[in-house]
Amino acid sequence: MNEIKTSQMAMDLEDRYGAHNYHPLPVVLAKGQGIFMWDVEGKKYFDFLSAYSAVNQGHCHPKIIQAMIDQANTLELTSRAFYNNVLGVYEKFVTEYFGYQRVLPMNTGAEGDETALKLTRKWAYKIKGVPENQAKIICCENNFHGRTISVVSMSTDPQARNDFGPFTPGFVTIPYNDLKALEKALEDHTVAGFLVEPIQGEAGVFVPDEGYLKKAYEMCKAKNVLFIADEVQTGIARTGKLLACDWESVRPDVLILGKALSGGIYPISAVLADDAIMLVIKPGEHGSTFGGNPVASRVAIAALEVIRDEKLAENAYKMGVIFRGELEKINSPMVELVRGKGLLNAAVIRPMKEKTAWDVCLKMRDNGLLAKPTHDHIIRFAPPLVINEAQVREAVEIIRVSLKSFE
Ligand code: PLP
Repeated sequence: MNEIKTSQMAMDLEDRYGAHNYHPLPVVLAKGQGIFMWDVEGKKYFDFLSAYSAVNQGHCHPKIIQAMIDQANTLELTSRAFYNNVLGVYEKFVTEYFGYQRVLPMNTGAEGDETALKLTRKWAYKIKGVPENQAKIICCENNFHGRTISVVSMSTDPQARNDFGPFTPGFVTIPYNDLKALEKALEDHTVAGFLVEPIQGEAGVFVPDEGYLKKAYEMCKAKNVLFIADEVQTGIARTGKLLACDWESVRPDVLILGKALSGGIYPISAVLADDAIMLVIKPGEHGSTFGGNPVASRVAIAALEVIRDEKLAENAYKMGVIFRGELEKINSPMVELVRGKGLLNAAVIRPMKEKTAWDVCLKMRDNGLLAKPTHDHIIRFAPPLVINEAQVREAVEIIRVSLKSFE
C-alpha cells in the first residue's frame, strides 16, 4: 500500500479515484482514541461528530477491539446457511438488553429500515388483514433513514431523491411533530405502520414537542398500526437514555438500531420486535450474508456492555446539560439557537459577513475541534459519550473562540 505522508496526498487520491458522493471537511484523520482524533500531520482534534453517532463508546475502545480481534482469529463468517456458536448468545443478550422477544440482525442502518418496512408490510398482510399490495407506511417530512431506493422513496430532500426515481410506492408523508396530520393519515385502514425518528438527526437535530411520541404511539395502537422507531442515530445512550423513546416511556413495536450497536467498529444493525410481529417472516424470505456474523455478534455484545458498564447514558445526559448551557452562554450573533438532548445537539447558524456554518467548521478545525454542517446552516455537536466535564468545557472554549473570530 502507498504510504500517505501528507493530508494533501490522501485528499488527492480520494478526489482522483473515489466517487464524488461526499464533500468532506478538508481534514485527513489517521488515528482515533476516546474522544480525540489525529490527522496525518499529528494534529489533535476533539471529535464532535462521532461518525454520525456511531462512535458513542469512543474511538478504538479497547474492550470492543479485543472482542473483535478474538473472534476474528477464531471464526469470522459462516453465513446463515449454518448455525454458529456466537449468534444465539448475541440474540439472547440483545433482546434481553432492549426488552424484546426477537431480533433480526443486519449490517447498515438503511438495511435495518428496509427490514422494518418489509416486516411491517408482511405483518399487515398476514396479521392485520390488509388486502394484498395495498399496505401503506406513514413517514415524516425531512426524515433520514438512509440511501437505498425504497428508503429515499420516503425522503423529501431533493438531494437525496432527485434523479433516483422511479420510487417505491406505498408511503404516505406527513409533517413531523404534527399529531393532527398523523390522526388524519391513520384513518386509512390500509396503513400498516408509522416510521419515525424520535429526534430527527440528519434534518438538524429537530426535537419534537414533549408528548409527541407518546401520543403518536397511542394513536397507532388505537388503529392497530405498528409504531416503528428508527433509533439508528438517537439510540444507544446518545440522548441521555438508552433509547430516545425512553424519554416518553414509549416501547416501539418495531425498533431499528445501527451505528453505535458496534461502537463504530463494524457495520452492525438490528431490528427488534416481539413474536407476533417478527415471526411473520419465514425462512428464505429475508436475510443478509453478513448479518449476525460471529464477529458482529461478539462486537455488538461488547459495545452494549460498554454502554451499560460505563454508564454512558447517564454521562450523556449530564454532559449534555453542561454543553448546551455553556454553548448558550457564548452569546454569538451567529448562533440563532441551540437545541438537542443528551449529547445529540445542534446550533442553528446565522450567516455573518458571508461566513456560513461551513466556515465556522473550518475555523473550529483550525482550532482543534471537528464538526460538520448539516443542511448548510446547522452544525451538529455530538461527541463520543465518554467525554468528561473538563473536556466539554475545553471544547466549548474552542467553539467560542472560533465563533468570536467572525465578529
Ligand atoms: N436512520 C437514521 C436515523 C440515520 O441517521 C441513518 C444515518 O445517518 C440511517 C438510518 C442510515 O444508516 P446507514 O448510513 O448505516 O445506512
